Amino acid sequence: MDEKTVSADNGVINGNTQTISKNFIEEIIEADLNSGKVKKTVTRFPPEPNGYLHIGHAKSLCINFGVKNKYKGKCNLRFDDTNPVKEDEEYVESIKEDIKWLGFKWDKLLFASDYFTKMYSCAITLIKKGLAYVCDLTAEEIKNTRGTLIQPGVNSPYRNRSVEENLLLFSQMKEGKFEDGKKVLRAKIDMASPNLNMRDPVIYRIVHATHHNTGDKWCIYPMYDFAHPIEDAIEGITHSLCTLEFEDHRPLYDWVVNNCGLPHKPQQIEFARLNISNTVMSKRFLKRLVDEKKVLGWDDPRMPTLCGIRRRGYPADAVKDFCTRVGVAKANSEVEMNYLEACVRDNLNMTADRVMAVIDPVKVIITNYKGSEVLSIENNPNAKKITTRKVSFSDEVYIDRSDFEINPPPKYFRLKPDGYVRLKGAYIIKCDSYETDQNGQVTLIKCSYVADSKSGSDVSGLKVKGVIQWVDAKKHTKFTLRRFDSLLLNNADENADFTARLNPESMKEVSAIGEKALSKAKIGDRFQFIRVGYFVVDKDSAKNKLVFNEIVGLKDSFNVKS
Ligand code: ATP
Ligand code: MG
Repeated sequence: MDEKTVSADNGVINGNTQTISKNFIEEIIEADLNSGKVKKTVTRFPPEPNGYLHIGHAKSLCINFGVKNKYKGKCNLRFDDTNPVKEDEEYVESIKEDIKWLGFKWDKLLFASDYFTKMYSCAITLIKKGLAYVCDLTAEEIKNTRGTLIQPGVNSPYRNRSVEENLLLFSQMKEGKFEDGKKVLRAKIDMASPNLNMRDPVIYRIVHATHHNTGDKWCIYPMYDFAHPIEDAIEGITHSLCTLEFEDHRPLYDWVVNNCGLPHKPQQIEFARLNISNTVMSKRFLKRLVDEKKVLGWDDPRMPTLCGIRRRGYPADAVKDFCTRVGVAKANSEVEMNYLEACVRDNLNMTADRVMAVIDPVKVIITNYKGSEVLSIENNPNAKKITTRKVSFSDEVYIDRSDFEINPPPKYFRLKPDGYVRLKGAYIIKCDSYETDQNGQVTLIKCSYVADSKSGSDVSGLKVKGVIQWVDAKKHTKFTLRRFDSLLLNNADENADFTARLNPESMKEVSAIGEKALSKAKIGDRFQFIRVGYFVVDKDSAKNKLVFNEIVGLKDSFNVKS
């Protein structure tokens, strides 16, 4: 294996024991700490507040805060708010909330826009050194004179303006003398550089727009490639961890750090983005889904946003576990969505209480049972401390229609005419007869119960293979279940307009009934509905109106241990 690569299967996935060897970023950091080059690590998570965070950002968060936690360093949350047009306070707040949800604590909360004055003075430094010039070419002209990978670019006719003229024009840009796009400030590097990013990149542009933080104070804004290294240097970031697409920008990053007279030199290291199969994570795309009302909002349970995932019921620990299992690699790859689901299932298997619910009820009358009783049923066999709950039982229960077959196939262990089955946590029952309507649909099943077969004290001697869930017909709770499929069609044409890629059946609502105790469930409570799946109480719930989201099914073909 390439020594820089730590592959997805590097984590040994086995219940609670995870042995993860060092990833290539940690190798670099440890070398820097051991050599004394770095005393204390300082990392940062630098989102642009132009949308909500998604699962891809969770990977970046886990890496940056992972370094903080592992090496007892610091990690800042810095909003990279250098583009006033797309940014908004709403996004700032949502990003903070999502990071807190994941359990990460930032050291400093910072805004790139707080450094605009410093960035401006860095630009002046470059102009004075003859390393930046005001250019009047249009964006189109700049693009057309940039050259290609095999052809050098063409020098701008404005490249040799004097320092004085550049200083004057740049200050006039700042004062608002020019319209958007009329002038830019460009770094004077090398129009023949084999790296296109080094061909006199634009470092400041004119944008007459109100900024969410600085209001109308500025009408010139620094470009990302200029702003980012300055932000990192000001904050004393030791390791500036970013995604692979910035690898080609690193020479420019270093150029800015070296030429702006900054006291500190951060080191940029790139890692592979997280890509998930059949999942579009770009904020632009997700925003369209929200704006065009194709989903319930940014936090729709089908969205790959962190707030969507949270509402879907995925535990924060499962998301972090997923990021750990995926690992940190230097090569881009794609991970299957069911890999994340497997992490969620593993987590919920240990943490979620079990309850009984029935989606398609058919009534069972237990003819020889009199009255009612309250049973004590175990909540979670995997819990550290076993607890129980009270479940009412009577002579009338509902079972799921799919658990009764008039003409069962061989090895059918659920209820069938003259057959036995155990009602989970209660008694063994035997089907004596059943009734159907004119369509042949079963409407009622009549059973007798085996009195000495009560779960926990069964002395009946009967060996019954099937165990099914049930709900007391006299005391239960009604609710709605939302079941989900992927938001995008799996086989859709990637180039088709996004509406053609949307799965029209990605959300279905069904009504269901469950144990009475569920009526007390609160928003965010998670359960395993025995033999059905994992569910969470949705925020659309109200008094006497319970709505559950399906978090994940009970089983999947994907085997994380393989
Ligand atoms: P998008 O393309 O979805 O709009 P972005 O990269 O523009 O995302 P930023 O707000 O700039 O979003 O991202 C903040 C940090 O998160 C950056 O360091 C970025 O590299 C990282 N990041 C974004 N998407 C992913 C991903 N899929 N995997 C890993 N890191 C990511
Ligand atoms: Mg970005």
